[in-house]
Parts: sequence; C-alpha cells; structure tokens
Amino acid sequence: MNKLAQLDQRYVWHPFTQMRDWLRREPIVITSGQGAVLRDVHGKEYLDANSSIWTNLHGHRHPKINTAITRQLKKISHSSALGFANEPASLLAARLVGIANDIYDSRFTIDAPHGKTTRKSSFVNRKLEKVFFSDDGSTALEVALKLAYEFTRRTRGPKSKPRFLSLAGAYHGDTIGAVSLGHVDLFHKAYGGMLFATDKVMSPYCYRCPFNQAKPERNDSRNYRKCHWECVGLVEKKFAAQKKKGNPYAGFVFEPLMQGAAGMIPQPSGWLAQVTQIARAHGALLIADEVMTGFGRTGVRSQKSGVSSKQDFLFASLHENVQPDFLCVAKGLTGGYLPMAATLTTQRVFDAFLGEYEEFKTFFHGHSFTGNQLGAAAALASLDLLVTKTSVRQRTKLQQQLHDELQTLWALPQVGDIRQVGLVAGVELVKDWRTRAPFALRERAGIRVCEAMAKRGVLTRPVGNVIVLMPPYCTTPKQLRQMVAALAEGVKELKYSTGI
Ligand code: PMP
Repeated sequence: MNKLAQLDQRYVWHPFTQMRDWLRREPIVITSGQGAVLRDVHGKEYLDANSSIWTNLHGHRHPKINTAITRQLKKISHSSALGFANEPASLLAARLVGIANDIYDSRFTIDAPHGKTTRKSSFVNRKLEKVFFSDDGSTALEVALKLAYEFTRRTRGPKSKPRFLSLAGAYHGDTIGAVSLGHVDLFHKAYGGMLFATDKVMSPYCYRCPFNQAKPERNDSRNYRKCHWECVGLVEKKFAAQKKKGNPYAGFVFEPLMQGAAGMIPQPSGWLAQVTQIARAHGALLIADEVMTGFGRTGVRSQKSGVSSKQDFLFASLHENVQPDFLCVAKGLTGGYLPMAATLTTQRVFDAFLGEYEEFKTFFHGHSFTGNQLGAAAALASLDLLVTKTSVRQRTKLQQQLHDELQTLWALPQVGDIRQVGLVAGVELVKDWRTRAPFALRERAGIRVCEAMAKRGVLTRPVGNVIVLMPPYCTTPKQLRQMVAALAEGVKELKYSTGI
C-alpha cells in the first residue's frame, strides 16, 4: 500500500465514514487536480462528479483563483477581524450584498397559496445589507440561528421563547445549533439529549409524497404529480397551530429549490414562494440555507442561448423571488478553494444589536479565522468568474446537456426518479420503478453504484440511495457524458449483483 494511504489509515478519522469499511481497502489518495479532473497518488485520473462534496465551481487549479490567492499571499494570509478590518473581506462583503439584492423586480408577481395572485411585495425593506463571516456551512447557520433568536427576544421581549421550524429531512450542518434544526434521524437521533427543540414540517418530496396520486412514470415526479398542494396546506396549519399556542415561530429555515443531504429533494415550482409567504404572514424570519444551492448551482434563469450575466440568479431563493432575512453561504463561496462562509442579514437585524458599550447588546460571537484574507481573495476571484458572460454561457450549456444525458437513464428499471435543478441532479435508485420499492439502507445500493463508478474513473458520493451528480462548471461535454455513462454502468452492475 502507498505510504500516504498507510499514514491515513493509521492516523486519520474520516467524516461520515464507517472506519471499519475504510480500513478494509486502500483509500484513493488525491495528490492533484485540474479542471474537473482529480489525480491520485498512482497517477490515475478521476472525474470530480460531485465537485468535491458540492464545493468546487470553476474547476481545480483555476489560474484566476490561484493567482488571486498567490497575490494575497504576498501581502498577508490572515489578520484578525476582531478589532481590524481587511482589504479583501471589505470588498467581498460589498460584492455579496450586491449580488444578493440586485435582481429585485417590483413588477414580479407569483401565485399565492390556493390560487390567488398577489403582487409580491414581501421583500421591500428587507434588503440584505450586512455580512457576518465565518468558516463553513454549519457556522453560517449557527450565526443565523443565534442572530434570529436574539433578534426575536429583543423585539418580542426577553421572556419570549423563540422557536424554529425547518423541513423534514433537513440537514444544516453538524454543530449543535445546526443539528437541532436537522431532521435526519440517522445523523441526529443519538445527540437528542444535547439539542434544543425545533419543529419540522413536510417537505415537498413529490416522488414519495402520500398526497401524490399519480402512478409512477418515466419522468421527474414533479412534472406528473397529481395533488392539491397539500404540502403547502400543512405548512399553513403548522404556522397557525404555533400561533394559537401564543408563541408564533421566530424563524423558518429552509434550503431553497432543492434539499441536498435530505436526498436531493427538489421543490415543485411555486412551493417556495407560497410557503415563505405564509411564514412572513405569521411574522417568522426567513433563514435560507444556500450552502449547497448558492453561486449558480440551481441554474441559470433562462435556458435560451444569449442569456446575459444580468439575467443570471446566483442564489436559489431569487428564482422564486424570495428574499430571506438571513442568507447562509459557504461551500462555493471561495469557488471551493478555502473554508469560508458568510451569513447575510438585514439592517433591521443589525440595528437590534446596536447600543452603547455598557448596554452589552453586542453580538458576542466570532471565530479566529473570521474574514480570512486568503479565503476572501479566492471568493472575489470566483465571483469575478461567475458573473462573466462566458460562465453564464458555460452553465447554460452544461445544465442543458446534463438534462439530455440524464434522459438516457430512464431505460434502467432501477432508476425511480431523476431530479435535476440547474446543475445539480439526484438519481433515486429503487428495486423497481413501477412500484417505487426502495432498497433498504443496509443493501448499500447507493454506495455500491458509487464504488462501481469510481472503478470507471468517476467520483461521487451517494445520499442514501440517491446518486448525486454535481459537475464543476468547467466540465466538458465529453466528461459529462463519461459521468452519466459511469452512473448507468454502475446501476447495471447493481442489477447483476442484487439479482434484481
Ligand atoms: N447546509 C447544507 C445545505 C449543506 O449541504 C451542508 C454541508 N453538506 C451544510 C449546511 C454544512 O456545511 P459544512 O459541512 O461546510 O459545515
């Protein structure tokens, strides 16, 4: 076994990994990367089909991002945000506020719950104006949660007990606040004793929705669902019930357009606009977790060619004209190069923390690496790339090709649902598409397909029995074809090994 692999097995404990399985075989040791390609210690090349756990945007070793980091290195790598400002963090905060707000269109109308059409005015005066930097997705959520909690106490009174609502299957990170908002028993149940209580409400998982009367078809289940938006009705009920208790929800936490770790669960068009309108009507703060969905992942607005960068939405919430009170970003913020996160919020929230020193209204929260210069320099370079016409064109083409390639998978009976939102796709494996019968987790269907894909030079990680494809934006047509072909081969192999 390679020396580095030996050291790894001897000393490293890997995240979300059964280490007994890990120790059974030689791990892939990545030593370099270029574009959508990762190279291991033996020189073998792999395609990075999940953008290194949903982080990478423009490919590895992008010259523009590398140059930005090296240029910053020559000035300084890090100085503390506790007491000092710095150049790239100030610039980045201004850029983030710009891209989080500049698409507001007051003429936009949406379908209100139960068919009424109203003028969408909910984001007037709710502009995201302030940026609190942190280190990763979990801390971005933690910041939003603590700010929302304390903002609520300061506005509703110190005796109020702010309570939060999040979605079934939610995953918002691994710190205790984020875990409290989560509803994945497999990850979270063991820690119940350490957590604070939150509530969950049904998420619109059309493929397995008890209200969806449609028989399975060879199509994304959102496109043929037969229902009456019962999921939205349940959200309304939940908010009303909490209000009746005399303690309306302080905040509603959601991943917009698609829930990632819940199993790549996409929301049918209009769901987000409807439920956020309900939340607003009940006075709840909107906390959007765009850790996965941010920075163009959920697609370019128009798939027509010739889209200008002005028409592009970099955040998923904006696709439904929703502007949250808290926007949490991480992963792709630096193009996937360095750990950095940000929580954007409104002037209103910011103002609640203003006061004389001795009033101690300060937000007592922060991390050693808050506002790190190298991360901020990488993020600025990544945003520069993202807003170019070339990037918009590239992403528009890639999402169309992803759609076309994915259609070939419907021929496989173990493919139950194919769910694409822009540049993210989840392929749900089932025993038979006609019955939607799921594989038991212990059958490791998702893991086995990903192992088969790895043998064919394509790396990704499943979410249970859902195979994730999230190519870096620089992925070439040939590379994308290779990713989808490896997935198809992996599913065929599964068929032989399970005898189904
Ligand atoms: N929120 C979402 C939606 C995520 O997908 C993740 C990570 N997969 C997190 C939060 C946590 O981010 P991190 O792992 O950077 O702490």
